[in-house]
Amino acid sequence: MFSGKIRDLCHTLSFRLTLWYAGIFMITTLLLIFLFYSYIASHLIEDLDRSLGEEITEFRSLLNKSGLEAVKKYMVIEVDSEIEDSFFRLFSSSGQEIILTTNFPFRNTQQLDSLALLAYRNGEKIFSNIDAPGYPNQLRTVSGDIGQGFVLQTGESLADYEKTLSFFKRFSLLVVFPLVALSTIVGWFLARQALKGVEKVTLIAEKIAGGDYDQRVRLKRSTSEVEKLADTFNNMLDRIQALIRGMKEVTDNIAHDLRSPLARIRGKAEMALLGAGSQTSCSDMAASTIEECDNLIDMINTMLDITEVEAGVSTTDKEKVEMNRLILSACDLFEPIAEEKGVKVMTSLPDNELYFLGDKHKLQRLVTNFIENGIKYNRPGGTVTVTLKEEDRQIKILFEDTGIGISEQNLSRIFDRFYRCDTSRSEPGLGLGLSLAKAIARASGGDIEVKSTLNQGSLFIIRLPL
Ligand code: ADP
Repeated sequence: MFSGKIRDLCHTLSFRLTLWYAGIFMITTLLLIFLFYSYIASHLIEDLDRSLGEEITEFRSLLNKSGLEAVKKYMVIEVDSEIEDSFFRLFSSSGQEIILTTNFPFRNTQQLDSLALLAYRNGEKIFSNIDAPGYPNQLRTVSGDIGQGFVLQTGESLADYEKTLSFFKRFSLLVVFPLVALSTIVGWFLARQALKGVEKVTLIAEKIAGGDYDQRVRLKRSTSEVEKLADTFNNMLDRIQALIRGMKEVTDNIAHDLRSPLARIRGKAEMALLGAGSQTSCSDMAASTIEECDNLIDMINTMLDITEVEAGVSTTDKEKVEMNRLILSACDLFEPIAEEKGVKVMTSLPDNELYFLGDKHKLQRLVTNFIENGIKYNRPGGTVTVTLKEEDRQIKILFEDTGIGISEQNLSRIFDRFYRCDTSRSEPGLGLGLSLAKAIARASGGDIEVKSTLNQGSLFIIRLPL
């Protein structure tokens, strides 16, 4: 169980971020230490080489001025005055060691011989590190031609140099480990702080998964990415909740709209059964069953049409639709119904034909729905006026009626599926026409606007972009 917890911890983002932070910090620190170490090492060697090189110059001028004996004496004086372990060696061009003065037991002349010959041949100072058998440190040496066929070699122990560098190494290790530990703690703290918001969102998501849809992430007033994520998450939840509410309403409405006709069909069937075989009751029952079934099929088809239009899966190709002609034929179609209700349908169309690229069948349904509603929710003697015009690169179709109107609180809901105002329940209808109309308008790139005053009439405006 404990190892499981550790495994879980290793998979967390906080842990990985901490590892990255500590890793990058450690690599950067080691790189800096390495650069500093190289700089110190080369600087120390440069210093040493400079002072060794100066000895060669000094001895050259001494030989020139005072001769070989003075050089030999000076070599002894010099080696005695040195605090470091050092040596001086004079070598002739014929390959012979003239004198070796040293303040420590140093016996390794083989390597020096070849360096002396090389310096003589090249005529320049040659710097080199050499080992001294039995001596713990290396020696830094210079071999340089001092004239008159002599090469002077001098060298110094690298003990101090190595001590400084090893002190630096130990110090670096001492500093690096606590620094890495500190950076891990800081990294862990920063990662936790950065991911705190994500944890909050996860916690809320878990509660929502448990069925509590009212949960929301509490936001701070900051513009951090996590706060933005939380805000988007909240908006998404609002939308999902609205959709669930909408779906629930639709389901309730469907259930309600199915129950009434089914109850009526059942009632009629029962009566026909009680009438025990009477021809008229059976015919009555069959006729009303067909009518109820037609209504139900109509409802289901309209719902499927709305879904299809909203999903944009309509397979019909777009065509150039003559809008003037489409409106006129829709008005003609409703003329008998309007006459029966005592309503006058009027049109106001432009002289030139207006064209719209769209689905003719859907546009017909869009227009007929508004004309039908204008007549249906009207009073005898009322009017329905359909106006077509082109404005601001848009086709506008206005349906204005002098009917029963819509109250302000109902205006925002009439486009919802199955919604019907109480004032219009006496008229037949499913409450799906406006939902379909809106879906068609939007699928065509346009929209619908409505203005209405209760008991005075309504104005629906369809805008379709050209
Ligand atoms: P239906 O007409 O089948 O009920 P709609 O979706 O076409 O469904 O309309 C939804 C509701 O909006 C109607 O039930 C009615 O209450 C209201 N409505 C629509 N058009 C008008 C109108 N022209 N005048 C008054 N009320 C209207």
